[in-house]
Amino acid sequence: MHPRNLAPAQTLPWRSWYSLQSWRTRAKHQLHEHPLCALCDEQGRVTPATIADHHPRHGGDYNKFVLGPLRSLCRDCHQGVWAVDKRGYSHAVGDDGYPIDPRHPFNAA
Ligand SMILES: [Zn+2]
Repeated sequence: MHPRNLAPAQTLPWRSWYSLQSWRTRAKHQLHEHPLCALCDEQGRVTPATIADHHPRHGGDYNKFVLGPLRSLCRDCHQGVWAVDKRGYSHAVGDDGYPIDPRHPFNAA
């Protein structure tokens, strides 16, 4: 890797990487190439994407942040609003630490 590209990884927390011009350019390009939300598209919804999401997640790895694959998402998908639809149940847990959704496999067992 070019030393110039190592600098942000070493000097900035990963959340700051999103404010780098190189990321803004890449995210803009992603949304230009793939203007619709990938997850909505899978479910037959046509939704304009507003967020370039690392998929799989970069996990704080600058190499993956810069080079890893991206997908376009709408705000709702990025926030996991539809996650329950896809999985079929919620991962939310109650005060006792057990899943509260009756559809969760734990409760179905
Ligand atoms: Zn979506």
